[in-house]
Amino acid sequence: MTDTGDRISLAEASRQSGKVMQRGSSDDLPKTASPTLQDLAECLFFTLGDGRIWLNDRRMLLIDLASVGHLRRELIDALGIERARALFTRIGYAQGARDADLVRQRWPNEDLASAFATGPRMHMLEGFVKVTTRRFEFDKERGHYLGEFLWHDSAEASEHLAAYGVASDPVCWMQTGYATGYTSRLLGKTVLFREIECRGMGAAQCRCVAKSAEAWGDEASDLAALGVAWSAPPPRPSAETAGAPSPTAPATTATPGHGPVIGLSASFIAARHLLERVATTRATVLFVGESGVGKELFARSLHDLSPRRDGPFIAVNCAAIPDTLVESELFGVDKGAFTGAVASRPGRFERASGGTLFLDEIASLTLVAQGKLLRVLQQRELERVGGARNIPVDVRVVAATNVDLRDEVKAGRFREDLFFRLNVFPVTLPPLRERRDDIPLLMDHFLAFYSREHGRSPRGFTRRATEALLNYRYPGNIREMQNLIERGVVHAPDDGLIDIIHMFRDGETMPQSAFTLLADGRLSSGPPPADDRPSSDQPPAEDAERRGGDPVDALVDSGSSLTELEGRLFAAALQRHKGNVAATARALGLTRPTLEYRLRKLGLYGARDGGE
Ligand code: ZN
Repeated sequence: MTDTGDRISLAEASRQSGKVMQRGSSDDLPKTASPTLQDLAECLFFTLGDGRIWLNDRRMLLIDLASVGHLRRELIDALGIERARALFTRIGYAQGARDADLVRQRWPNEDLASAFATGPRMHMLEGFVKVTTRRFEFDKERGHYLGEFLWHDSAEASEHLAAYGVASDPVCWMQTGYATGYTSRLLGKTVLFREIECRGMGAAQCRCVAKSAEAWGDEASDLAALGVAWSAPPPRPSAETAGAPSPTAPATTATPGHGPVIGLSASFIAARHLLERVATTRATVLFVGESGVGKELFARSLHDLSPRRDGPFIAVNCAAIPDTLVESELFGVDKGAFTGAVASRPGRFERASGGTLFLDEIASLTLVAQGKLLRVLQQRELERVGGARNIPVDVRVVAATNVDLRDEVKAGRFREDLFFRLNVFPVTLPPLRERRDDIPLLMDHFLAFYSREHGRSPRGFTRRATEALLNYRYPGNIREMQNLIERGVVHAPDDGLIDIIHMFRDGETMPQSAFTLLADGRLSSGPPPADDRPSSDQPPAEDAERRGGDPVDALVDSGSSLTELEGRLFAAALQRHKGNVAATARALGLTRPTLEYRLRKLGLYGARDGGE
């Protein structure tokens, strides 16, 4: 993505010379080594209408420095300065380590020297501090690192000075933690950063030195006491490691071969928690959710977590079976039951004996089949079609619906007694658009899964493909996302990146463009200026209405009445025209008497005249 231009990175140079660079120093780095600050800035985007900011695939939060300063003061007061320092250092460490993962994941072909040099740029992008690299050198094999950096206008020092005046010890705790976390993660060994001078102590700038823990000798003990992790924490799951178990891995339910039940978002965790609670019981479970949210996967993991896991799991989509066959499919047939029933055969219920029967789209069962199902649930025995005997069955029934069964009951299409029998333990599964925080995880997962499945090796997604997937509404939920990514894996060139055109080819509405950061610091909703834009593609739609979400959608979502909206519109327009009714009417394309009439009706004109 970034090495397609005329820049030749160190990685390229080392590839050409046929070896991977494990040693190096800042002196070897060309000024233009990628990723540049601009490359990093393009990882930052704002999906304004959605209330999210992303740094690549990580959700960010714009919080003002004063609030961080406030938090800092509260913690210092509550915990004392040493414990507050340890806490902030650890927070910084974690963020630095995550940023190192991001850089490795997004620029996997850049060599280690570029990756080390990217740390200060990330630090700058995130607004902590302006960094000047004096020098660094490293040798990964020997675990050696030595560096010296200047920090100008440290944000933390400013806050500390404002709150406490000149300090007697360095105060840039989070920053020190950040640099330590970032560098240690890359080296695979702890590299400690220490401030030799700090602006918080009255120096013009902060100066820090970085060495491996052994190289510091005794001096390292004070940083060790901060509780900084000595061995690098395990990386977050990425395309390469999604399958590997890891203590920080998101909640997943092992469903080998069946795809993921995977997520970190609050709504997902809530559903998963319910699932775990009920799995070990015999209770009938009803999954409620839109098409494509993964109801069958949830049902399968319920089975896998239950004491019946060694028994069969039988899934039936009730909507896929013709009405005339549904009874014989579910309950089986006895020989001679009807013309053509030449042999007896068991139904799905009997085949699920000792295990779990998953009935998807339960609302589409005929009323007769509903009656039979109710009987099985109540009496734990069934009668085959045309059969004369009762067959005992030991089956846990799990049902799912994408329509509101209460409405079906009201409309007389669903038996109320069966509804109450099924609705013992309802679990609502959120649509993907309500668990957007899980999109990056699912992207990684499906990319790895379909790459294996199809024997392809795309390196990942282009920046704007990532942006598109983060912004898309997914009317077809996870199933649709799976389709998009599978298509992308198939269409993308091997060892290349998946772009929008590889995925959105089948009439899906192209997602709105997110806002991204331009070189001059402004947000733009246009296509990225990056060199990863294929010439064959159209730039994403960017008419004014779509920027940051369709305003009409926002109005509909607001649930306001037309009168309310009219009132708000008039009030805002009047305010803009400083209360001048004639100017407001002109701006709105109304005659003055019409506007006055409507204002009076809304009670806005009288109030103004009354000189409130
Ligand atoms: Zn400092």
